[in-house]
Order: sequence, then structure tokens, then C-alpha cells
Amino acid sequence: MLEMVEISGVRVENPTVKTFTLDKRVDARPGQFCMLWIPEEGEKPFGFAKLDGDVEVMVRKVGSFTEKMFTLKEGDLVGFRGPYGEGRFKIKGKNICAVGGGVGIAPLLPFIDEALAKGRKVTVIHGAKTGKEMIPLEERLGGRVSLHLTTDDGSCGRRGNTCDVLEELVDSGVDQICSCGPEVMMKGVMDIALERDIFCQLTLERYIKCGVGVCGHCSMDDSGLMVCRDGPVFEVSHLKDSEFGRYRRDKAGSVSDL
Ligand SMILES: Cc1cc2nc3c(=O)[nH]c(=O)nc-3n(C[C@H](O)[C@H](O)[C@H](O)COP(=O)(O)OP(=O)(O)OC[C@H]3O[C@@H](n4cnc5c(N)ncnc54)[C@H](O)[C@@H]3O)c2cc1C
Repeated sequence: MLEMVEISGVRVENPTVKTFTLDKRVDARPGQFCMLWIPEEGEKPFGFAKLDGDVEVMVRKVGSFTEKMFTLKEGDLVGFRGPYGEGRFKIKGKNICAVGGGVGIAPLLPFIDEALAKGRKVTVIHGAKTGKEMIPLEERLGGRVSLHLTTDDGSCGRRGNTCDVLEELVDSGVDQICSCGPEVMMKGVMDIALERDIFCQLTLERYIKCGVGVCGHCSMDDSGLMVCRDGPVFEVSHLKDSEFGRYRRDKAGSVSDL
């Protein structure tokens, strides 16, 4: 059911990403998502960047909904539905590596918190095109994780991409990987995990409309798994023979390149 909730805080992460705190607590698991609604803009899916206390969503400005979201301030209202998604992050390993590309780091944060609270060792690899697009994580994660930063142009952290770092770290006892970010990056993460038979979960992004597995708009070829209902977090064993990493469908449902 849709309810209107108040925005109780807005934090600027970088020129294109803001974090919104909502006056809302949910009983959700890391990896689940919500649908946010803005009058005359419709609804869009967003993962939870924080689940402990009032929820947070981290939003990257890409199009009309997110541009409108960027104009909202503390005290404004936004429509909220959720939490949704049966596919969530599971703690399986002792030595977990979280790989977040750009704003894709957001849904990994509650899982990182949970893994640390359960005594797991966590390594975080966060990558972006440039330093300006990085999400500032030092304060959020403190000294609790081993943090590796990469940028395509070398303006912050190491020049290169997250998979270059994962490739180097993965043989040092990593027994679980989780990732969210651009699909091309996650395809690289999946290949590294499959090659070494490491348990790996990825958060998928598809055009979600209903959010509850009714309209079928976000179903995946060939399995028919729906990202909103069966995901958005999937184990790589369920993705390796699917459309994932090869193509996706656009807003109209037509096949488009990644
Ligand atoms: C489960 C899930 C969780 C998400 N969590 C977050 C989050 O935590 N933070 C965040 O910033 N974004 C998240 N997204 C993406 C977010 O929903 C889109 O950025 C948003 O819908 C863009 O809306 P818009 O109207 O601003 O842009 P649009 O005008 O709809 O799109 C602008 C451009 O972005 C691309 N695009 C937008 N949405 C999608 C999509 N779903 N799949 C493929 N390409 C797309 C298209 O190429 C389009 O040209 C998530 C998506 C899913 C499916």
C-alpha cells in the first residue's frame, strides 16, 4: 500500500548523488528495495542504503524522476511502497568482498553492516569513473573494513576498475562476493566468482513497474525470473545462462545493448 512519508534529511554525496533519510522504519532485509512515488512523475525502484533506524535511499540523478527527487527538501513528502524482493543478501562466508560501482554501493551498505555485526571480515571495493563520482565512504564505514577505491581516470584511488582489484584480492581467502553496479562490471565480477567457484550474489537493475511480480515487465530471459519478485539479488548460478551480461530490455520491453 502506498503511503506518504516525510523526508527528514538530505545529504549531498557528490554532484550527482544525494542520500534521502525518510521518516520511515521498515522490517526489511539487506538487498530489498522500495518504490518511491512523486506526483506526476510516477514510481521508481530504489534500494535501501540504511535499514537500521529511519531508512535511507541514495539517489543518482539520471532522468526526470531522479531530477525531481533532487529538488525535494527536508519536510517534503514522497510516496513509499515496500519493502519488496524475495532475493536478498545471505551471509555464507567468513571473508566477504563487496564490490560497488558508483551508486551501486548503496544497497550493499546494510549488508556490510550486518556482516560486520556478525563478526565477518569485509573488504569493500568501490569504483567510479572519476573522483567526483565516488561516494564518500570513509565516515560511513570507518576503519571497520578494508577499503579499496578505483577510478577510470586515476583521479581518486587506483586507476583501473573494480574487477582489477577483485582479481588480485580474490585468492587471499575471499569466500563470498556481493556486488551492485553497472551490469558490465557485475558480469566481470560474476566471471571471477564462477571461475573460482566462490559464492556470489549480484543486485540486478531492470525496468520495474509494479514491484510485486504481477506485470512481468522485469522478467529475465530465459528463466522468467522477475527482478522485482525473485530478486533484485540473485546468486550467479541463476544468472550465468540468462540475458544477464548480454542484453537488457528498455522501457518499451525491446531488447537493447547493455
Ligand atoms: C531494484 C532496483 C533498485 C534500484 N536502486 C537504486 C538506488 O538505490 N539508487 C539509484 O540511484 N537508482 C536505483 N535504481 C535505478 C533507479 O530506479 C533509476 O535510476 C530510476 O528509475 C531512473 O529514473 P529517471 O526517471 O530519473 O530516469 P529515466 O528517465 O527513467 O532514465 C534515464 C536513463 O537511465 C537509464 N535507466 C533508468 N532506469 C533504468 C533501469 N531501471 N534499467 C535500465 N536503465 C535505466 C535509461 O538508459 C535512461 O535513458 C534501482 C533500480 C532497481 C531496478
